[in-house]
Amino acid sequence: MVVLGAGPGGYTAAFLAADRGMHVTLVDENLKPGGVCLHKGCIPSKSLLHLSRLIEETRDVEVSGIKFHPPEIDINRIREWNKKVIGKMANGLILLCKQRGVEFVSGRARFLDAHSLSINNEKLIFDHCIIATGSQPFCPPLFSEIGNHALTSTTALDLETIPERLLVIGGGYIGLEMGTVYSSLGSQVTVVEMAGDLLVGVDRDLVRPLTARLKSKFENIYLNTQVVSCELQNNRVSVQFDGDLGINSYDRILLAVGRRPNTKDLGLESTSVKTNSKGFIHVDERFQTCEPSIFAIGDVIGGAMLAHKAAAEAKMVVASIDGNKSSPKSHSIPAVVFTDPEIAWCGLTETEAENDNRKIHIAKFPWGASGRAQTIGRTDGVTKLIIDPNTEQILGVGVAGVGAGELISEGVLAIDKGLKVKDLANSIHPHPTLSETLMECAESFYGEATHIYKRSKK
Ligand code: FAD
Repeated sequence: MVVLGAGPGGYTAAFLAADRGMHVTLVDENLKPGGVCLHKGCIPSKSLLHLSRLIEETRDVEVSGIKFHPPEIDINRIREWNKKVIGKMANGLILLCKQRGVEFVSGRARFLDAHSLSINNEKLIFDHCIIATGSQPFCPPLFSEIGNHALTSTTALDLETIPERLLVIGGGYIGLEMGTVYSSLGSQVTVVEMAGDLLVGVDRDLVRPLTARLKSKFENIYLNTQVVSCELQNNRVSVQFDGDLGINSYDRILLAVGRRPNTKDLGLESTSVKTNSKGFIHVDERFQTCEPSIFAIGDVIGGAMLAHKAAAEAKMVVASIDGNKSSPKSHSIPAVVFTDPEIAWCGLTETEAENDNRKIHIAKFPWGASGRAQTIGRTDGVTKLIIDPNTEQILGVGVAGVGAGELISEGVLAIDKGLKVKDLANSIHPHPTLSETLMECAESFYGEATHIYKRSKK
C-alpha cells in the first residue's frame, strides 16, 4: 500500500493499514509528516488562538477586580514556540512510523499508471494507493499584483509582522479565526464578506453571540460587500469595495476565500481517476476512484474540509480495502469554529431542516442561566438541540460559547447512538459545568429545566 500525502487522512490510513499487517509506504513532499493540519492549519492556528484567548481573558477579568498591564508581545518568540509545538508533534509522527514499520518517503509523487508512482525519480509499485494530498488556499487573480501584502492562511500563520490595519477577505471560519488572532495581537481588523452574514450556512442563533463579540473587537465587519480592485500604494494596499464604502487602505490583506484540491500535477491523466470541474477527486461510497487500485480521502475529495473527517475516512477506506473487517461507521461529522466564543455543531442543523421543509422541534438553553457560565463571566452562549417531533430522537446539537468545541462530542455520541432527549435529560451532569447546559436544554424540551422556566414544547 502506498499512501500519498501525510496529513491526518494519510498518516491515519498508513498507521491503520500497518496495524492490520499491510506493507505501507507513506509519501509526502514535506520533510516531515503532518500535512496542512500540523504544519499550516489546525495546530499552529490553535496555538495562536490559545494565546489570543489568554490576552483577551486578562482584559475581560478587569470587571472582576483584577487588572493586568497590557502584554508585551514578542512575535519572534511566539513563532519559535509555535515551531517547537509543531516540531514535537512531527517528530512524534516519525517515531510512530518507525514503531509501526511504515516507511516514510519525502518527495513529490506523480502517477505513472494504475499501479506505479514516480517519487524522486524512482519508481514505486503498489497494489493499492490512497490519495490524501489535501488542499491549498485559493488565491483569486485579483490579488496577484500585491505580492506578499496578500497573506494566505499559511503565510498569516508565519506571523511575519503584526499589521496595523488588516483586511480579512472572507467571513468563513479560517478568516474569523485568523482575524481573532491578529486582533488580539494588536491589529485593527476589518472583515469583508460578500454574503449577508458571517459563517454562511451555520444556524444564525449560534453565530449571533460571536458576531456581537467580534463587533466589539474588530474595526469593521462589512457584509454583502465585495472587493472590486486592489493595488499597492506607498507600501500599503489600497482596496476598493463595491457599494458606498469606496476606497480604504490596509497594511496587509488576508485571503480566506476557500481552498482548492491538490490534484494538479499528480499525473492522474495516466490513470482512470476522474475529478470534477473544481479538481476534487470523484470517489464512491468505499472511497474508491474510477481506477480500482486507487482510493482517495480527505480534503482532496471535497465535502467538509476538516482533519477529523479526513481521519474518519482513512479508517473507513482501510477497513474497506482490508475486506471490510469491522468497518467503523461514522454518521455525524462535528464542526468547530475556534473563535471566541467558539461555535460547534453536529448532525442536522436548523438551517438544513428549514431548507428541506423538515418538521423539527428545537430546545434551547441560554448560558445566562448556567452557573458555570456566570462564574467565568461568559454568559454569551447558547446550547440547542434539534429533535425529531415524532420519536424525540436527537437529530442535531449546536453550541455557541466558550469551550463549545469540547462540549460537542457529547452531542456526536448522542446522535451516533440514536439517543432520545430523555436520555440526555436523565443523565447526571457534574455541577457546575458548561456540560450541564446540554442536560438542561434537554430538560427544557419537557418544560422541566431547573434554571429556566419554559413551557413544554411537546
Ligand atoms: P492535508 O493535511 O492537506 O495533507 C496533504 C499532504 O499531502 C500535504 O502535506 C501535502 O504537501 C502533501 N502532498 C500534496 N501533493 C503531493 C504530492 N504530489 N506528492 C507528495 N505529497 C503531496 N480542520 C479541523 O478539523 N480543525 C481545525 O481546527 C482546522 N483548522 C484549520 C486552520 C487552517 C488555517 C487551515 C488552513 C485548515 C484547518 N483545518 C482544520 C483543515 C485541515 O487542516 C484539513 O481539513 C486537513 O489537513 C485535511 O487533511 P488531509 O489529510 O486531507 O490533507
